[in-house]
Amino acid sequence: MSHTLSQKYLSTRGASYGLSFEDVVMKGLAADGGLFVPEEIPALPANWESEWRDLSFEELAFRIMSLYISESEIPREDLKDIINRSYATFRHSERTPLVELDGKRNLHLLELFHGPTFAFKDVALQFLGNLFEYFLVRRNQGKEGKDRHRIVVIGATSGDTGSAAIYGLRGKQDVSIFILYPDGKVSPIQAAQMSSILDPNVHCLTVEGSFDDCQDFVKALFADPELNSTHNLAAVNSINWARILAQITYYIHSYLALTKTPGFSKESKMRFVVPSGNFGDILAGWFAKRMGLPADRLVIATNENDILDRFFRTGGSYTKGDSKGAGVKETHSPAMDILVSSNFERLLWFLAFQTSDASTADEQRKQACESVSSWLNQLKTEGGFNVPKAVFEGAQAEFESERVSNDETIAQLRSTYQTSFPSNLGPGSAKSSKTGGYILDPHTAIGVAASLRSIERNPGVSHISLSTAHPAKFASAVDLALTGEDGYDFSEVLPKEFIGLEQREKRVTPVGPGAGWQQVRELVKNEVEQELQGKR
Ligand SMILES: *Cc1c(COP(=O)(O)O)cnc(C)c1O
Repeated sequence: MSHTLSQKYLSTRGASYGLSFEDVVMKGLAADGGLFVPEEIPALPANWESEWRDLSFEELAFRIMSLYISESEIPREDLKDIINRSYATFRHSERTPLVELDGKRNLHLLELFHGPTFAFKDVALQFLGNLFEYFLVRRNQGKEGKDRHRIVVIGATSGDTGSAAIYGLRGKQDVSIFILYPDGKVSPIQAAQMSSILDPNVHCLTVEGSFDDCQDFVKALFADPELNSTHNLAAVNSINWARILAQITYYIHSYLALTKTPGFSKESKMRFVVPSGNFGDILAGWFAKRMGLPADRLVIATNENDILDRFFRTGGSYTKGDSKGAGVKETHSPAMDILVSSNFERLLWFLAFQTSDASTADEQRKQACESVSSWLNQLKTEGGFNVPKAVFEGAQAEFESERVSNDETIAQLRSTYQTSFPSNLGPGSAKSSKTGGYILDPHTAIGVAASLRSIERNPGVSHISLSTAHPAKFASAVDLALTGEDGYDFSEVLPKEFIGLEQREKRVTPVGPGAGWQQVRELVKNEVEQELQGKR
């Protein structure tokens, strides 16, 4: 496998090949509905463990991303600068510190919430925002007015993506960002994080309805040829390849941190456990593993929206809804409330590729694209599909899954608070008072519950459980678990950045009740017009 290369990308459904990194970042989704994947997964260089051991987060990100982005596309000095600016906004010097949660069980937490919006999505979206800016500045050199290439980013959010995307794109030239969210259904802190950003290029649209209604609007807008040709729509949801790429860094960074902990020996195995919804976060871990990171199986932790867990329990059946055909369940971990996991398509492509019996790599790719297209088509028309045995076994070799119920989530939050008193906490961590223990957010609690089950089956194996959000973002679940516990006082976990946030000046545009997507389209056009005329 090559190290310096011209890395190219293709669509999982086969209609586009040979695309550049810039193409796939700016497009987000392929025209055939597929997701972009690199034509080859690069290997970590020989001696990476010793040579990368003491690199900073930024230096490590640079080494990893250099394997996926051709130098001819982004000169190395520019890439370094983009990375450095992306993580300068993080509050913790290590960016994503590793904390020992339970020394006896070798259980560590990877705190991913030290970015501007206190959720792991910042790791990717700070980077993506700077990439968009970089490509646009380059395209627009020497251009004025109407000749400038502008993009309009549109996304729906149940909370975390929207705020992280807004913080990644606020104030960026030639980019407007629209975030749709269901009125009253994101947490008050999340709503305030979005609506209090007053930069003229940021537009929050509140929808009377559910997250799915928001997503339907966004899908309809992306499917509209007129708006696409006049406004250059771009996507920031977790299907954007740059997000997966940026997330690979913390898997390798945390592994290297683990090797420096006293309990670690080179012979002992290690596992990552990842609270999962759209499968973007854990997919980055899988890329790291394929590149050569010596991780044992990756553990998928789902809430009651358990399509991934059902895939593993049924031997490879991927179906929307449960047997009763129910829709999305509202849980204490709303960022994982999904019906299907979009990024799973990327894993399926690689598994179909590796199990194809074709004789050349090109033929294998073609077969993989055909399989993925037909499965995803079946998902659309029949609500599900089954993968062949070899593909399922491929998935099973690298993953296992755990489903954690709503009640178990709350119970885990409480029991961790009662029993965990980590000593190596940095500033801004989630330990509250003098007497109380560590406070998990509900998504992280799902990961920890799954970790404890995995440890039970695999005693002695080191576990890194990904902590995807700060608990202060999810006050109601945390209160439900901890009110009345010794030493618990929510105000003590509240980061200073959140104090007074809900009282700040806000700007949102409500989407009228009963509005159709065409009305949302007119709203978008109108807001962009006003922004360009400097009326915002
Ligand atoms: C988005 C999110 C997840 C799920 O990540 P996926 O990449 O969608 O699997 C988990 N926890 C939190 C807090 C999130 O914001």
